[in-house]
Amino acid sequence: MKDFADAIRAGATAQELEAIPLPRHYRAAYIRREDERIFEGLNSAEKDPRKTLKVGEVPTPELAPDEVFVATMASAINFNTVWSSIFEPVSTFAFLDRLGRSGSLWDRRHVQPYHVVGSDGSGVVIRVGSAVRNWKVGDKVTIHCNYVDDQDPSAHDDSMMASNQRIWGFETNFGGLADLSVVKANQLMKKPAHLSWEEAACNALCNSTSYRMLVSKNGAAMKQGDVVLVWGATGGLGGYAIQYVLNGGGIPVGVVSSPKKAELLREMGCKAVIDRSANNYRFWKDDNTQDESEWRRFGKDIRDLVGEDPDIVFEHPGRSTMGASVFVAKRGGTIMTCAATSGYMIEYDNRHLWMKLKSIKSSHFANYKEAYEANRLIAKGMIHPVLSRTYDLTDVGEACNSVRRNEHEGKIGVLCLADEQNLGVDDPELRSQVGEEKINLFKRYAGSIS
Ligand code: NAP
Repeated sequence: MKDFADAIRAGATAQELEAIPLPRHYRAAYIRREDERIFEGLNSAEKDPRKTLKVGEVPTPELAPDEVFVATMASAINFNTVWSSIFEPVSTFAFLDRLGRSGSLWDRRHVQPYHVVGSDGSGVVIRVGSAVRNWKVGDKVTIHCNYVDDQDPSAHDDSMMASNQRIWGFETNFGGLADLSVVKANQLMKKPAHLSWEEAACNALCNSTSYRMLVSKNGAAMKQGDVVLVWGATGGLGGYAIQYVLNGGGIPVGVVSSPKKAELLREMGCKAVIDRSANNYRFWKDDNTQDESEWRRFGKDIRDLVGEDPDIVFEHPGRSTMGASVFVAKRGGTIMTCAATSGYMIEYDNRHLWMKLKSIKSSHFANYKEAYEANRLIAKGMIHPVLSRTYDLTDVGEACNSVRRNEHEGKIGVLCLADEQNLGVDDPELRSQVGEEKINLFKRYAGSIS
């Protein structure tokens, strides 16, 4: 793939890119089927992504008619790569096997002894399948991870409702942490021209998820003045969520776990900040018993900051926090959940839900339209990347481990074909209008938080 990297850096035309032969193998980050049981008997905290994430050559698959090959310049770490690398809660090879059983030749390609992971990417289209209409070789793109077969009628209202909906690079093979990505044409979006490859690569998964959860009618459809409690407010999802609340005229209450994160959050414009470590909430007395008095203390802290209860709770930590989230939401409020980092067997006191007419609403990634809208806001400089640090693909295990250990801020980028950071900016004028201080906010805090 080096010839492609050199050509892209030199500004090659579509014809020049087409003339470069596709390699038979390419460099990728992958997990191995033979390692599926490597962590058996260990506690979750002892499972180390650095042991299972390998970087090496894998064979180039054949391209389906509705797909493109993207020369991946950069990618990013998402929590789903953490799950893949520690084989929790299930091995992602089970997803690949299920996809393979669905029958088509193209689906069977995904069943391999390796799983190329990664659900974000930016790069350049270098080949298009025969059925691709709206994209061409040479297009600079970002990739969203909603993987649907658009010949299925169930995919044509909200494609997240499609019976065949999958997350690319998690439930499918040939993902973004590689020098080459295999992508359906309906996953492509225009690369924001004012951003570098790694700044452009880090957004799609978390930004689109937060957009659907807060802005879309499929989510909480936040309105002006809504109080929104955001857990993990400087994390991947939370860093975008705070921006959406502020842009939409809401009142964010951000929860973080260190003074430096609190400082970063304030610099984002979030005035109501709760440091959960300093406040030392103990929502659980032991593994099985929650403590309502701690929920009350948390609720009082929110009221002390903004004078009222949250209309919306942006929920993803799961078991640790869900009891508190249900309790503190306003009468009639919405608990918007998309994940369960700390455990998916959730417990909450149902009396607080029904007596106060609250709703728990679920969300998962975003449909193409939502991802496109979220990408458009990035491209206009109205939402900013929350990229803090960038690693080389060879260090993907370290990068993933830092997310696993919650030692990171915002998003962690990964350079694939881009051999250094800050390449790929095509519109420096827009960049200076948007402002380096906004684009680089999370980078300035990198490493100072833990
Ligand atoms: P992240 O970058 O690691 O941020 C999550 C933040 O949540 C952490 O930084 C931490 O912030 C906070 N947190 C973690 N455990 C917590 C706990 N026990 N109690 C309170 N706060 C806790 O991860 P992310 O990218 O935002 O993703 C978060 C979760 O959402 C992951 O499980 C991921 O798999 C999932 N996800 C789902 C979707 C979807 O489409 N369904 C999309 C993206 C992500 P502080 O320590 O500062 O409080």
